[in-house]
Amino acid sequence: MPELPEVETMVRGLRPHVVGKTLIATEVGDPKFAALRSALVLPAVVRSIERRGKYVLVNLRDQVLVLHPRMSGRVLWARRKPAGRVRLSLRFADGGVHFVDPRRLGTAEVVGEFEEALGPEPLGDLAWLPPALSGSRMPIKLWLMDQKKIAGIGNIYAAEILFRVGIAPHRPANSLSRKEIALLTQAIPAVLAEAIACCGTTLADGQYRGPRGEVGAFACELTVYGRAGEPCRRCGSPIVRTVLGGRGTYACPRCQR
Ligand SMILES: [Zn+2]
Repeated sequence: MPELPEVETMVRGLRPHVVGKTLIATEVGDPKFAALRSALVLPAVVRSIERRGKYVLVNLRDQVLVLHPRMSGRVLWARRKPAGRVRLSLRFADGGVHFVDPRRLGTAEVVGEFEEALGPEPLGDLAWLPPALSGSRMPIKLWLMDQKKIAGIGNIYAAEILFRVGIAPHRPANSLSRKEIALLTQAIPAVLAEAIACCGTTLADGQYRGPRGEVGAFACELTVYGRAGEPCRRCGSPIVRTVLGGRGTYACPRCQR
């Protein structure tokens, strides 16, 4: 958390404010980002801002500022510096991009080119997916969360996607039938697009918010994530929490086989 839908929501919130505008200065609110001050060549015009996996990429003329919100980070536009743990601010003439991160796990770095080894984006053409799955014995939920295999999906959306298609999280990727893979290929972009339309998911910790401080409404649509013991929305059986790859994993034992 935040995963693809939340980061995409952040990027969409920033884009109209910063693209084509001049980044004047940085304000560092956390010593771990001090090196950015000398690394960034300023002033610099923002050519574009995009999301790749769970990363925010601010493309300047010859440099890319890579922001990775990780567990609790949030990147937002505001005229004045917002309240809270602002670790880094990028100043423009009429406001700033602020990186708020209560748990301090987020990262920010300046590179010539973004070169993180990430798998393909899950919102594009997924024709590559069936052969990739059939070549792996990894549990399907961990496969979906592996950023090198497919970028942007984390614990929440992996659980939601697998409930949607009725596949148990621990099933080896190569055990999926042709029909299950076809369902999965449709469900991955569908679930993520629905979450983007809701501006993502705000969990009970309240840390993630949309660009105007709004709650990510996909929280109301969650079918299994965080619902241990509550009735399955499809069959009424209690949702079960197990641990897979060290992460809490939610599924309906009756609907997901
Ligand atoms: Zn069920």
